[in-house]
Amino acid sequence: MPDKLKRKDPDNYTIRASKDIRRLLKNKEDELGLNIQTSEEKNRELNALNEKINKLVMTLDRKNVLLRELSIKDGLTGLYNYRFFRELLNEQYNLAKRFRFPLSCIMIDIDFFKAVNDTYGHHAGDAILSQLADILRHNVRDADKAIRYGGEEFIIMLPYTDSGDAYLKAEKLRRVISSFPFSAGRKKVNITVSIGIATYTGTKNIKRAEQLVIYADKALYQAKQRGRNQTVIHNFRSAEKGSVDKADMFGGIIERRKNPRVQTLIKIKGTVLNSKESFSGNAYDLSYSGLCFVGSNALECNRRVNISIYLPDISTKVKKAHPINVEGLLVWCKHIHEYSAKHNSSSQESDTDYLVGIQFINISKKDGVYFQKYFVSMFKREGQTGLIG
Ligand code: GH3
Ligand code: MG
Ligand code: MG
Repeated sequence: MPDKLKRKDPDNYTIRASKDIRRLLKNKEDELGLNIQTSEEKNRELNALNEKINKLVMTLDRKNVLLRELSIKDGLTGLYNYRFFRELLNEQYNLAKRFRFPLSCIMIDIDFFKAVNDTYGHHAGDAILSQLADILRHNVRDADKAIRYGGEEFIIMLPYTDSGDAYLKAEKLRRVISSFPFSAGRKKVNITVSIGIATYTGTKNIKRAEQLVIYADKALYQAKQRGRNQTVIHNFRSAEKGSVDKADMFGGIIERRKNPRVQTLIKIKGTVLNSKESFSGNAYDLSYSGLCFVGSNALECNRRVNISIYLPDISTKVKKAHPINVEGLLVWCKHIHEYSAKHNSSSQESDTDYLVGIQFINISKKDGVYFQKYFVSMFKREGQTGLIG
């Protein structure tokens, strides 16, 4: 068949057209396939990029945390620094005020640190500061924060802690520090610290956050004045007027002793540490952790005392005293009239009498054993002693 005719042949024409369409389809398919391939590649690339960005963001987050740590921590000791303390103080003060809980500030200053530097060198001085910081770090609870406040000054902030507990904490720290063999190069050195404490118990005493630090500093100054290596609590009201130093924010005496008490009349004698003052009286209420006594001295609260308690001799029937020695803290002192008025009791005591509360801090093992025996014997005679829970 001639070509001309062939072209006009409708069958032939259809065959050619369908070939064209197939080719066209194939081309489109290839193009589509290529597109799918490229979009998969692009997807992969995008995912990889995403992963990279995520990693970068994580590193950035870590670096930010590190940066924040660096900005609030002291380079030498790793404790919180002054900048952080400013934030913390306001935050904790506002919380204490809002939720009415006590907040204590313990200020610690190394005694004669200049002499340590002069003797062992500044480098050894730095090492001692760092070792002291370790002691503080390991001896505070998570809720309490240890801060390097200045050169050789440290602060511990203790929320939910009244002055009595802050005192016990401070004294424990002071003892640990004074018996720790600090390394100054190859030499071992002993250092001591003086400590001041102020406690927020309500806006009556402390109206601004900064006052907490000012009063802790004042107490620290007193600790230095009284001979260093000791703890002093800032006294808001003088015991001379017969007021209670440890008055709580609701205006009464805080009875902190949770142990069973024995009501009795036992002679005690005592001396106030680092002072020439001595006192005596009759303990009318005694427990494992403290006592109340009637005496004729208005005693300054928050001072450490050594007392002798003249317990009866329980080993023999002979009426003989068995004195035991206890180290304690004067936690409150109240003129008898003030006490009677608050407790609606008509007092038989003399106008010159004071009621004093002492919290025990330390007792030797030997005396502790005897004290315990005494209690056991008294508890057995519960009916006679008027034991109260
Ligand atoms: P006080 O018992 O009255 O506190 O006597 P002190 O010598 O400790 O007090 P003073 O304020 O006179 O001296 C403080 C010293 O602390 C002086 C300074 O050389 C030293 N000090 C402060 N910061 C640092 C520090 O970062 N490293 C070292 N090694 N010493 C420091
Ligand atoms: Mg100082
Ligand atoms: Mg000092």
